[in-house]
Amino acid sequence: MAHGSLQHGQLEVICGPMFSGKTEELLRRIRRAQIARQRVQVFKPALDTRFGVTTVVSHSAQSMESTPVNDALDILEFVKDSTRIVAIDEVQFFAPSIVAVTQKLVARGLRVIVAGLDLDYLGRPFGSMGELLACADEVAKIQAICTICGAPASRSQRLSVSKEKILLGEKESYEARCRSHFDGEEEVQYEGNPNSDSPNILLNSNMN
Ligand code: ADP
Ligand code: MG
Repeated sequence: MAHGSLQHGQLEVICGPMFSGKTEELLRRIRRAQIARQRVQVFKPALDTRFGVTTVVSHSAQSMESTPVNDALDILEFVKDSTRIVAIDEVQFFAPSIVAVTQKLVARGLRVIVAGLDLDYLGRPFGSMGELLACADEVAKIQAICTICGAPASRSQRLSVSKEKILLGEKESYEARCRSHFDGEEEVQYEGNPNSDSPNILLNSNMN
């Protein structure tokens, strides 16, 4: 194996609230890998159309081309033999099969880097993020800045009254908040595993 490449695959998870820099960190790791001339393929869920159909974009306007996929299993089909690193943004939107998909890629010896929200707008574990975090070799849990007090923020406060689990939106719909300034009244209602939820999808694409 070439110097610097991994003998074994590994799973890295980057998580935190909205605006915490998950996409920036994902892009940073991808760019460093590219400097090391390792082939990277980038994926995102097709439902996330906020900044365009095929691009992964950060709130600081950094971007990279990606392959949008509807189903996590499609990632297995798309990954080429020459690929060393698979990067996935907004991973919380994928169905539970994403866990097996990442495990398979890691078993093939690939470095898999996923980024996504750890918590939904009520402070509940989002999608398969809990399992991905448990399976990860390395975890980066990062914070944003609370828009109310400037403290480190670990929660995403929804500003609209919508009760949909998935509401695509940006600054008009969400703010980063610390625990004290997160709407705790709703958070108290989380009493257990939300896996039985069937997420309704409400697309709100009038961005910026
Ligand atoms: P994420 O993918 O976690 O939503 P991004 O990587 O897209 O985050 O964007 C992070 C960038 O968002 C920061 O570098 C900063 O420029 C900007 N930003 C906007 N609001 C905030 C905030 N409340 N806290 C921290 N960064 C913020
Ligand atoms: Mg992001």
